[in-house]
Amino acid sequence: MPNKRFDTRTSKLPHVGTTIFTVMSALANEHGAINLSQGFPNFPSSERLSDLVCQYMKKGHNQYAPMAGVPILRERLAEKAERLYGKTINPATEITITAGATQALFTAITAFVSPGDEVILIEPAYDSYGPSIEVNGGIPVPYELHAPDYRVDWEQLGDLMTSRTRMIVINTPHNPTGTVLKAEDIQALEKLTAGTGILVLSDEVYEHLIYDGQPHQSVLRFPGLWERCLATYSFGKTFHNTGWKIGYCLAPAHLMAEFRKVHQFNVFCVNTPVQYALADYLADPETYLSLNDFYQQKRDFFLDAMQGSRLRPLRCEGTYFYLFDYSAISDEPDTEFAKRMTIEWGVAAIPVSVFYSNNSTDKVIRLCFAKTEETLEQAGELLRKI
Ligand code: PMP
Ligand code: GLN
Repeated sequence: MPNKRFDTRTSKLPHVGTTIFTVMSALANEHGAINLSQGFPNFPSSERLSDLVCQYMKKGHNQYAPMAGVPILRERLAEKAERLYGKTINPATEITITAGATQALFTAITAFVSPGDEVILIEPAYDSYGPSIEVNGGIPVPYELHAPDYRVDWEQLGDLMTSRTRMIVINTPHNPTGTVLKAEDIQALEKLTAGTGILVLSDEVYEHLIYDGQPHQSVLRFPGLWERCLATYSFGKTFHNTGWKIGYCLAPAHLMAEFRKVHQFNVFCVNTPVQYALADYLADPETYLSLNDFYQQKRDFFLDAMQGSRLRPLRCEGTYFYLFDYSAISDEPDTEFAKRMTIEWGVAAIPVSVFYSNNSTDKVIRLCFAKTEETLEQAGELLRKI
């Protein structure tokens, strides 16, 4: 056989390069900049939680977990869903523990999206959705939101629905805009999809990072919609350990059965000792209920530190990201501006246009405030000088 090289024209993802999070974090490291680009905390995860992981490792919980996740963790998550959203979830058939929300999203898309299926994405959209659809032969159909409000007009979104629409992906609280969907939004979505067989993939990784007393409008709260939903979550976001890569998916049993068909051959199961540790840790609801206040304080601290900067804050109702309009400083594209911020001014940011398939021209960057007050203060000092 002649030694034929892979022909890159046959790539399944011809337009995909390295994710912006890797690119900007590398640039921040290269130039010694404060890294407010990729979303991760720069403070430690709970010592008690780490101790629990070690204890379970030492006790010998080091072999494969059950495919869907350890039962006690699934029970704790069912209790949480009941307590927060008034939804009874069957831990045996409606919960699967995953290797972070990324795998949950990828598995959900792979389980349901076939070649030629259309999937409506609300852009700016988290960067894993589009490629996960395309690698399965699906077609992302963008519905664009723009600064400063980033509000969904559900009637307009409905105009994108066709007989080939398989799924709509929503994300609340929303990365990167920091907006949250209200009850009316989810009701509108429920009405729009009623009787269609269209699935809703609801990315709720920031469920506990929502501010000013607003409730998180999980799809779990809406019985009429829930039958068509898969919802994804991330412990990395909740417990400040993004490197542990543990998350989960909730879905009604008939959808979860399909999800697990893929999950079992995708990862089979995930990290056993961390699952046991999380189950113990979740027994105290304060571990997650305290997060709103914790991050709201950081948001407000950061906003104070940015007072006097020509970067104009938009609004942050949830997540640990804040968008800033830089049009008072420059009219260059956001990708250039974000690079220059990192190299010349020492603070790395994410350009928001990368979350659009048709490159938005809004002059907006995203900064992550999941950082110590010292870091936020230092970043504010640098950014006030621009
Ligand atoms: N969805 C959104 C909106 C995110 O911001 C992220 C990044 N944390 C993920 C999914 C992926 O989560 P995980 O790190 O648990 O894979
Ligand atoms: N979710 C994080 C963000 O939006 C990054 C995740 C990643 O690096 N893949 O910044």
